[in-house]
Amino acid sequence: MLCGPGLQATLSETLPTLKLLIEQGGKLILAAHLGRPQGKREPSMSLRPVGERLADLLGRPVAFVDDCIGEKVEKTAGVLQPGDVLLLENVRYYKEEEENDPGFAEKLAKVAEIYVNDAFGAAHRAHASTEGVARVVARRGGQCAAGLLMERELKFLGDELENPARPFVVILGGAKVSDKIEVIDRLLDKANTILIGGAMAYTFRLAEGYKTGKSLVEADKTEVAKAALGKAKQKGVKFLLPLDDVVAEPVKTDKLDKKGKPVIEYQNVRTNTDPNCADNAAGLDIGPATVKSYSEEVSKAKTILWNGPMGLFEDKRFAEGTFAVARAVAEVTQKNGAKSIIGGGDSVKALNKAKLGDKVTFMSTGGGASLEFLEGKELPGVAVLSEQN
Ligand code: AMP
Repeated sequence: MLCGPGLQATLSETLPTLKLLIEQGGKLILAAHLGRPQGKREPSMSLRPVGERLADLLGRPVAFVDDCIGEKVEKTAGVLQPGDVLLLENVRYYKEEEENDPGFAEKLAKVAEIYVNDAFGAAHRAHASTEGVARVVARRGGQCAAGLLMERELKFLGDELENPARPFVVILGGAKVSDKIEVIDRLLDKANTILIGGAMAYTFRLAEGYKTGKSLVEADKTEVAKAALGKAKQKGVKFLLPLDDVVAEPVKTDKLDKKGKPVIEYQNVRTNTDPNCADNAAGLDIGPATVKSYSEEVSKAKTILWNGPMGLFEDKRFAEGTFAVARAVAEVTQKNGAKSIIGGGDSVKALNKAKLGDKVTFMSTGGGASLEFLEGKELPGVAVLSEQN
């Protein structure tokens, strides 16, 4: 049985594992989740269309059963021949999956002799398909292993960053300091340079006593930001904050977005070179001077780790900072052979949007899982594999 990555993201990323197992004459039973059906049969989250797409990608039939446990699964699994592939229905149609219910894990594992986990993006959760099943298979004397994608994730986010070639430049952006503070703290022990962008930069600016206007800030996290600045100084890490930014005036409209929240329009977009932000404006991207300075730092790097966009890149008026940094990262990778590791989530989206995804060394398929792993936390879906062998 093989547990695949959150299939909506990257089906193709797990193909090498599937092909290897097929070549070796395995009978593949694939278990995966899609979306958050909350323990209900939500037809829009069925894996049936995924099976069809997978069959195209593999160039061979993929059988599908509209359940992940029970008689039908056992019957179909029982007649599989070496090299056959069977995809099970969304494991999250059962609430017991996310509860890591031992009885459910037992039922899921019933058809499996060997367990392979290729779902790095779900490895930070101890669910039945990512953790419980491994225990059942191992208890019965079966082997548990990481798939090739999982192995690559652990290599690049783990081993490669243990003793990185220097200079080691870390680029951190995104919305919140609080989401990434543990990563910042850990990387302050390793990095030569840390470049901060995104909304996160405004919490640092606030900590330094500047005005942040309507920028996204976490006013209760200024002490945390100050502590990071202090640690950087003490450790001799070059810790750079934006020199300038792109700001605009946010105005609420009557329109609602998909989630029912009012759509915000941004007016009067301009570059701001004052470290203070006007009361009626929000900072939404790093400015040209910052792009220049960050690109220079990146061009000297031998190892780069990037997590989080430099601005609200979904709006093209605020995407240039992220795209320019992406170009700098791609260039130093291609020209100087630097190792560039993109730590998942929105930075991966941004690189793909800039069509530079294939110009970096590695892009993680995990969002939350990458962050927790970079924080140094043990991921239950990874830990269970080594415990059992
Ligand atoms: P994260 O998940 O923490 O990496 O945050 C990514 C999100 O942060 C993206 O949706 C970005 O649009 C958003 N973001 C980055 N910079 C800003 C900013 N200056 N203001 C508002 N949102 C931002």
